[in-house]
Amino acid sequence: MGWSYARVDFLPAVGAYCIFCRRELKAKKGIVVRQSDGREAFSGPGCAKSKMGDPKERLLDVASMALLVVEGRRGEAARSGPSSTASPGEQPEPRLDPGNETSEAPSPSAIHLPAVEYLRLRYEVMGEFNGNVTAVMRQAYWHLNKTGVLSPDAEGLLLGIMRKSAIDNSVFSDRNIRRCIGLEYWLKLALQNTKPDRRDYLNSMLDTLHYEWSLSQGQIEAINKWGKGLRKTMTSFPTLNNRSFAGVRRPDFMIRSRETRS
Ligand SMILES: [Zn+2]
Repeated sequence: MGWSYARVDFLPAVGAYCIFCRRELKAKKGIVVRQSDGREAFSGPGCAKSKMGDPKERLLDVASMALLVVEGRRGEAARSGPSSTASPGEQPEPRLDPGNETSEAPSPSAIHLPAVEYLRLRYEVMGEFNGNVTAVMRQAYWHLNKTGVLSPDAEGLLLGIMRKSAIDNSVFSDRNIRRCIGLEYWLKLALQNTKPDRRDYLNSMLDTLHYEWSLSQGQIEAINKWGKGLRKTMTSFPTLNNRSFAGVRRPDFMIRSRETRS
C-alpha cells in the first residue's frame, strides 16, 4: 500500500502537512500523493522524492491550469483573442513555488510528451466531463499504464486530435481542456465554501461545464457576481476571466445533447 504521485495542486493556506514527515507545508502549491485505495494527501517535494523517486511523467499541474482562467494574470491578455494560433506546448508552465523543500523538486529528466500529457488530462483529471475519453483513448491509456509508453499508433492518433482541435479551436483542444480543468477547480472550491442549501446555482454551472466543456461570457460574469458574496468569507477567491472560452467551438452533437436535455 504505497503512495504514488497524483498531481501538483494548490495547498490550503493553513493546515497542509506533509504525510511523511508531518511538517507544515507553507508553499502555495504542493504535491498531492495518492494511495492505492484513492486516499489523497500532501507531500513536501523532498519527502516525495525520497519515498517515491522521480515521477514517471511530469506531474499534472492543476494549479497552473487554475491560473489560466483567472482575470488579469500575466500572459492571459495576449491569449484572449482568437486562439487558432495557439498550439499545444505553448502554455505557460509555472513551477512549484520556492518553499522549504523545493530544492529537491521533481527532476527535469521526467519525460514530457504532449500526447501523453493530453491523454492523462482527459483520462485522469476530466473524469466528470461528459465523454472525457473515447474508446480508443481509453485503450491507449490502458496500454500506457501497463507499459509506460504510448503505442506509436496511439501517439499519432492523439497528436492528430490535438492538431485538428487546435486549428478548429474546438472544445477538445489542449488549450481548452486546460481551461476547463482550471474553471472546474474554482467552481469546486466555491462549492466547498458554500452552504449546502445555497449550492444550486454553482452546481448548475458545474454541470453545464461538464456537458459543454466551456461556459459563456455571461455565465462566467454571473459566477463573478456570485463570487462577491463568497469573497466575504474567502477573500482569496479570484475574479475569473469571462473570455476564457471566447471563440471556442462546440461540436454539433454537444449542442444537440444540451438542447434535448431538460
Ligand atoms: Zn515531508
